[in-house]
Amino acid sequence: MNRRKFIIGSGLVGLGLASRGFSAPANHPFAVVLGTAQDGGYPQAGCKKECCRGLWGDVTKRRDVASLGIVDPVTNQRWFIECTPSFPRQVRRLDEAYPKLTGKLDGILLTHAHIGHYAGLIHLGHEVMGTKSIPVHAMPRMENFLRTQGPWSQLVGLKNIRLSPMRDGRAFGLNKRLRVTPFLVPHRDEFSETVGFQIEGPKQKILWLPDIDKWGKWKTPLEKVLKEVDVAYLDGTFFANGELPGRDMSKIPHPFIAETMHRLKDQPASVRAKVRFIHLNHTNPAHHSDGFAAKQIRKAGMQVAEQGERVEL
Ligand SMILES: [Zn+2]
Ligand SMILES: [Zn+2]
Ligand SMILES: [Zn+2]
Repeated sequence: MNRRKFIIGSGLVGLGLASRGFSAPANHPFAVVLGTAQDGGYPQAGCKKECCRGLWGDVTKRRDVASLGIVDPVTNQRWFIECTPSFPRQVRRLDEAYPKLTGKLDGILLTHAHIGHYAGLIHLGHEVMGTKSIPVHAMPRMENFLRTQGPWSQLVGLKNIRLSPMRDGRAFGLNKRLRVTPFLVPHRDEFSETVGFQIEGPKQKILWLPDIDKWGKWKTPLEKVLKEVDVAYLDGTFFANGELPGRDMSKIPHPFIAETMHRLKDQPASVRAKVRFIHLNHTNPAHHSDGFAAKQIRKAGMQVAEQGERVEL
C-alpha cells in the first residue's frame, strides 16, 4: 500500500469510509470496492496507446471492472453488485477482504446487460463453479434476457442461478438489516433497462451508479440523491470531452467528471465529499492518482474510488 492510499483512507474513516488497512467494527456490514474500471478493464484488450502500454507488466496499476462486494459478518452472507468479466479475481478479492466467508455466494445484483456488468455469470455454470440456485436480482427486461438468451439461459435451466425480479423504486431486503432499492436511469438500453442501487445498512447508505447518459436526462436531480446517501459511487467513465480523439462522444454519453465537478461546485463540502468516481475508461487520466485529473478532482472535494476501499453500511 502506498503512502497516498493510507492517507486518503485514514482521512475518510470519519465518514465511515476506510482503506484496505482499516478494519471495521466486527459486527457492521460493509461494502468493498472490487474494481473501478469501465467494462473493458484497465489496461484494455488491444490498446496500444500510452494509457495502457506500460501497464501489462505492473499488476499494482491494473484495475478490474467496477463492482462492489457486500459482506454481513453477523449473518455470514455476501453479495456481488455486478458480475463482471473480472469476476474470478473479484471473488478472490472479496475472500481476502473477509476470509471467514471464502467461497460463499448469497446473491448477485445486476444493473444492466452491457458486458462489463453481467458477463462474469459464465463462471457460475457447470464448466466452472457449478453453483446451486444463486439468487440473481434483475429488472424485468434483464431477467427476460437471461432467461431466453444462451448461454445465460442454460444457467437458468440447470438451476445454477435463480432469477429474482426487482422493480423500479421498490426496496427489498437482502436480509433483515440490509435493504436495496433499484432505480431506473437513462442509458443505452439495447438489451435491458439500466438501474443504479441505493444500498442501506444499519449505519450508512451507499449509492452505486456506474452508467448513466447525462445528469440532465435523468428525471431525478443528482443533488437530491446525494442528500439521501452517505457515499456515492458515480459514473466517472470519461474525464472530459475530447478524450477519445476521432470519436463522436455524444454517441456514448456519460456525465464527464468535469461536468459533475462543475455541477456540484456550489454544494457544501460535506456533499461533494460523498462522491467517489468509478467505471473509469482506460483513456481516463484520473486513473493516475498523481496526475492532473486526480488532483483537480481532489481540489473539487471529491475522490476517485480505490480498488479495495471499504465503506461501513
Ligand atoms: Zn458499463
Ligand atoms: Zn488504453
Ligand atoms: Zn452500460
